[in-house]
Amino acid sequence: MGESVLTASGFARTASGELVCEGVSLEAIAQAVGTPVYVYSSRAIREQYDALDRALAPVPHRLHYSMKANSNLAVLRLLQERGAGLDIVSGGELFRARKAGFSADSIVFSGVGKSVQELREALAAGILMFNVESFFELEQLNEVATGMGVRAPVALRVNPEVRVDTPHHYTRTGERGNKFGIPIDEALDAAQRALALPSIVLRGLDMHIGSQVSHLEPYRDGLERLLDLHAQMRAIGASDMRYLDIGGGFAVTYEDETPMDLDALAAALLPKIEKSGLSLIVEPGRFIVGNAGVLLARVMHRKKSGGKEYIISDAGMNDLVRPSHYDAYHAVEAVHARDTRSVVDVVGPVCESGDFFALDREVDDVEAGDLIVVRTTGAYGYVMSFNYNARPRVAEVLVDGDRFAVATRRENYEDLVRLEPQQLEWRTD
Ligand SMILES: *Cc1c(COP(=O)(O)O)cnc(C)c1O
Repeated sequence: MGESVLTASGFARTASGELVCEGVSLEAIAQAVGTPVYVYSSRAIREQYDALDRALAPVPHRLHYSMKANSNLAVLRLLQERGAGLDIVSGGELFRARKAGFSADSIVFSGVGKSVQELREALAAGILMFNVESFFELEQLNEVATGMGVRAPVALRVNPEVRVDTPHHYTRTGERGNKFGIPIDEALDAAQRALALPSIVLRGLDMHIGSQVSHLEPYRDGLERLLDLHAQMRAIGASDMRYLDIGGGFAVTYEDETPMDLDALAAALLPKIEKSGLSLIVEPGRFIVGNAGVLLARVMHRKKSGGKEYIISDAGMNDLVRPSHYDAYHAVEAVHARDTRSVVDVVGPVCESGDFFALDREVDDVEAGDLIVVRTTGAYGYVMSFNYNARPRVAEVLVDGDRFAVATRRENYEDLVRLEPQQLEWRTD
């Protein structure tokens, strides 16, 4: 490839104006694998992970990547090589984590509704900790663990009831009255209860306040509340507490947002953690992978209708739902730089008006057959994709230096009907 200055995201333009990923041409990937396709930069993922790890280095800490952001096995293996742990939210994620080679004791299990079967699987595997979100779950976990003759390590997920500013209300989880966590004024009771349960070991406290958070205050305020609680819990006999988990949510840049300032975060939190003698756990998802991926698509055609102009791409809302679901901004760019731009809607082929990537946006003047990218789609992109309109799910490609590999093959039509029997087997009762 020609000279190119790598950006933090691993994507950059060459002197001739072509967007490349590390040392690989996106044009070449599109030729080889087809479009639409997610493309991830290994280097960008490693750099984000390492930057966060370095920022937290002054205190004992564990970095548990929240794999719901991007659970591709190749991405997981890359992080495992760096020493990451994982934050999972389902039995399926536990399965994937084990497939990728993570040891069970590097896994914490979050989520507001874990099934008995999921609890059993995680106990059998021997995970590091359950982030428990309710009294009910505490009792249920105790019962399941007792039945299996094991003890369940637990962190109580507390809703710290701090004010959180995120771009969309769907991504706020640490304010009073949402479904996540144990309300803060019930947390001490929950600890009391946990201490009385024979198969529960209380190992820590946990919060997760939301996603795409760029302010320090909610973390700082939340941490103070957790440390207060920790002191109260020790006073009632919780002597095995070791971990303080502040969750994930660190912001990345989609448009002009300030990404989480790691040095400022460290300065605000680490002295308090150090004083407490606890180990810090963080559960970043988006921060690790968000900027490391693009959705590469091809323009099918341009059309004018009702005084508006549309660019119809071969990728749709089923491949990337964030614009439609969260009203999320994603930059759309031509792979080969253009001199002119127009205000258009960039839409997909799906039969829904909500099928768009950009509305009334000034975009490079691309024509039928041109390649475009939807930027910053490494997190909550492929993992949220679905088969609506019987559209096969797209491929994922991992780039490393001047090499690339298919990390998920594109689904074919047979895949679409694989789970449906040709002949129904009718049953009664
Ligand atoms: C989703 C989630 C995360 C990660 O959120 P990001 O915004 O991607 O960092 C961390 N912890 C829990 C419990 C989550 O549900």
